[in-house]
Amino acid sequence: MSLAAPNPAHHSAPTAIVRHDWTREEVRALFALPFPELMFRAAEVHRANFDPCEVQISTLLSIKTGGCPEDCAYCPQSAKYDTGVKAEKLMEIEKVLAEARAAKAAGASRFCMGAAWREPKERDLDSVCAMVEGVKALGLETCATLGMLTGTQAQRLRESGLDYYNHNLDTSPEFYGEIITTRCYQDRLDTLEHVREAGINVCCGGIVGMGEGIEDRVGMIATLAGLPVHPESVPINMLVQVEGTPLEGSAKLDPLDFVRTIAVARITMPASVVRLSAGREEMSEETQALCFLAGANSIFYGPKLLTTPNPGRDRDMALLDKLGLRAME
Ligand code: SF4
Repeated sequence: MSLAAPNPAHHSAPTAIVRHDWTREEVRALFALPFPELMFRAAEVHRANFDPCEVQISTLLSIKTGGCPEDCAYCPQSAKYDTGVKAEKLMEIEKVLAEARAAKAAGASRFCMGAAWREPKERDLDSVCAMVEGVKALGLETCATLGMLTGTQAQRLRESGLDYYNHNLDTSPEFYGEIITTRCYQDRLDTLEHVREAGINVCCGGIVGMGEGIEDRVGMIATLAGLPVHPESVPINMLVQVEGTPLEGSAKLDPLDFVRTIAVARITMPASVVRLSAGREEMSEETQALCFLAGANSIFYGPKLLTTPNPGRDRDMALLDKLGLRAME
């Protein structure tokens, strides 16, 4: 009896080594792998770095909704598009803390606060710093997403106890101008650098399904994986098309291309938590299961889950149960 010939597509690359020198060619080659090979490699890397049955769960609260001066083509909160989202004022600190307490009681370990700003004004930053202090005092990890930050602002947030800052690169440098014109890619990279320098963990990823080409997904992942320190959290979003935004009616992305993007993020950023973010509501259970197989190990719970009965939350729990996954401590 003879042994099967070795498969040349099989690789012997170590699975736990974190590299920052990924070339576009290498990332492109990963995207081009046969699906079973890509999934196998991603699962190998996942297992070498994490318990594949654990999923980190974050809770997100919009502390300042709508009326944003930026023109991100996917976003219902931009004041430039008529999407029916009303501009609201920054929430009062007591209300935010009440939501954080509810999140904690519901089992969340991290509480993310999002504000629809181009960048925070100093007065607003005072309020957010007070919120961060308050949430931290409840024993929760803190995360914020407030737009662009200066080095001094990042430092102030760190001093208030901010653990994570979210700032996405969204897409490739080449495609970025098609999606946002009110700031540039370098602005994003500068904020990420300020956050990093302040000693705050970085949460940074992007969106797929915005009409970008495969090369843009390659460019986005290569940029993220080429950062001097990989983001601790890498959210990968599937575009949710919102009525009134310029991306309404874009061609739908094949869910398998979404899964591939997750897998390539997992392989190139082995020690990062890869978050299956927006778009989950429209995904089949099968697609979500493939994402977990491809190395996704974090999900978001939306804000309304905290105070109102939420069928979405029950559905999520049922899916995690069905797949034998459990919440990361
Ligand atoms: S900066 Fe944020 S809130 Fe403002 S339009 Fe862009 S994505 Fe929306």
